[in-house]
Amino acid sequence: MNNFDKLIRPQVRGFTPYLPGRSIESVKRERKLSRIVKLASNENPLGPSPKALAAMRKVGEKLFLYPDGASTSLRAALAKQGRTSPERVIIGAGSDELIELLGKTFLNPGDSIVVSEHAFIRYRMAGELMGADVISVPMRDYTHDLAAMAGAVRESTKILFIANPNNPTGTYNPEAELTRLLRQIATANARREKPVLVVVDEAYYEYAKVFERDYPDTLKLQKEFPNLVVLRTFSKAHALAGLRVGYAYADPRIIGAIDRVRPPFNVSALAQAGAEASLSDAARINKAIKLVVAERKKMLVELTTLGLSIIPSSGNFLLIGVSPRRGQALFESLLARGIIVRSMDEYGYPNHIRVTFGLPTENRLFLTALKEVLE
Ligand code: PMP
Repeated sequence: MNNFDKLIRPQVRGFTPYLPGRSIESVKRERKLSRIVKLASNENPLGPSPKALAAMRKVGEKLFLYPDGASTSLRAALAKQGRTSPERVIIGAGSDELIELLGKTFLNPGDSIVVSEHAFIRYRMAGELMGADVISVPMRDYTHDLAAMAGAVRESTKILFIANPNNPTGTYNPEAELTRLLRQIATANARREKPVLVVVDEAYYEYAKVFERDYPDTLKLQKEFPNLVVLRTFSKAHALAGLRVGYAYADPRIIGAIDRVRPPFNVSALAQAGAEASLSDAARINKAIKLVVAERKKMLVELTTLGLSIIPSSGNFLLIGVSPRRGQALFESLLARGIIVRSMDEYGYPNHIRVTFGLPTENRLFLTALKEVLE
């Protein structure tokens, strides 16, 4: 009697939930520390654009009304930015919701997805939740091995996920490599009953396209490859992680299918207004990029001096090898000093930590604490 376990879907019974970075408030409460530095979730510490804040303040009085379920105005603005049409755009409560919606729309038990072994973990979770098989392909030099991933596609495969740049490794795949993969999949798709979708998650797009000359122009590639889905977000360079807005560009037939599954009011009125206003503030994004360029340079010098192994990153964060130390132990020692970073056990990197580039003073505090705990 009352065996509620029996009620739970088998895919959920064995499901390990996502472990988010520790929040400033929870660490403050637990450690009784007054100053906490959070470098754990790849946020942009400069904060939201004043234009976004002003737009959201204006929406405040209208919050008794349901939002526009279709996010019409934001989709039009994103279509304009991507030189495409609004039917090719869908908005999610973070790109995270879109990853899950891709699973709900396309995956059944017995289907499979292809992911890279140390890729952002939410793709694997979206597959597992739907009972799909997850084909995990080893990385090469901390980087998605696209040739091996194309080779791993089976008859049952419906989606191949690529994080570009990847979190937590920070590595990216250039346009030539991505194009090669898309060609291979297109050739295979021509013979298949069900085509394979290629989902490229560009959460760190604003940084990577400036940092890397050969970073792919995925919206251009979509003209040749209709099975290419591009995910982006307002959580990183736009500094709106708390607002929860992500978006996808894809073929209208793909967008239409996902849109059927999307909850009707998944993006709040505040989120729609804030995101749209943020899009019009290019100067703010440039400021974020400048900060990361400057801080990355300083951090690389300091961390190399400490003899740590650093994986080159195209995002606003860094994966740091701390072997033979355990990343979890280092995480704890830094937490005791009020610095929140991420240990990487669930990503299969027990001897690494991931740190986000913060404000200059925050990074200085991190480096000072790190030196102390490494001694
Ligand atoms: N993709 C990648 C690669 C990420 O690093 C993140 C954030 N950790 C997300 C997607 C999800 O971002 P959001 O849901 O805030 O848009």
